Amino acid sequence: MDCKAAKKTFVLLNEDALSSSEKTQVQAHIKECGACATLYTLLSQAFGIITEEKSNSPNVYLASKTIARARERYGFFSGKTMPTSTTVLRPALVYAVVLFTGLLLGFLIGGWFQPDSATTDTQNELAGEIFNTEDTDLLTIK
Ligand SMILES: [Zn+2]
Repeated sequence: MDCKAAKKTFVLLNEDALSSSEKTQVQAHIKECGACATLYTLLSQAFGIITEEKSNSPNVYLASKTIARARERYGFFSGKTMPTSTTVLRPALVYAVVLFTGLLLGFLIGGWFQPDSATTDTQNELAGEIFNTEDTDLLTIK
């Protein structure tokens, strides 16, 4: 087995996915060839690190550490409370504005769909003019 063929099998060898005869051939080449032995060692170390990183369990203290670091570096969460204007008044103001706007829009949109008696009267007058009659009751739209 030459170096080129051996290098192609390194990943499979590391994952133990070679047949026993291929495995024996590659291992024999690695024993003879210093360059391939070095390369295979580096590759298996890299795969070892990757496997180790994959299997790491999540750090349960991540949040605490992050907060501690932020406090240490930037003074975040250092016990200073936000002013009342920020925590209470501003949200209340926003809520009031949203509520008022909603009500206003509701009345406006509701008004558009209301039957308008003034319009009906105007239509009856127009009908009276068109048909030259004083007796608009005959033409009254009801
Ligand atoms: Zn080699």
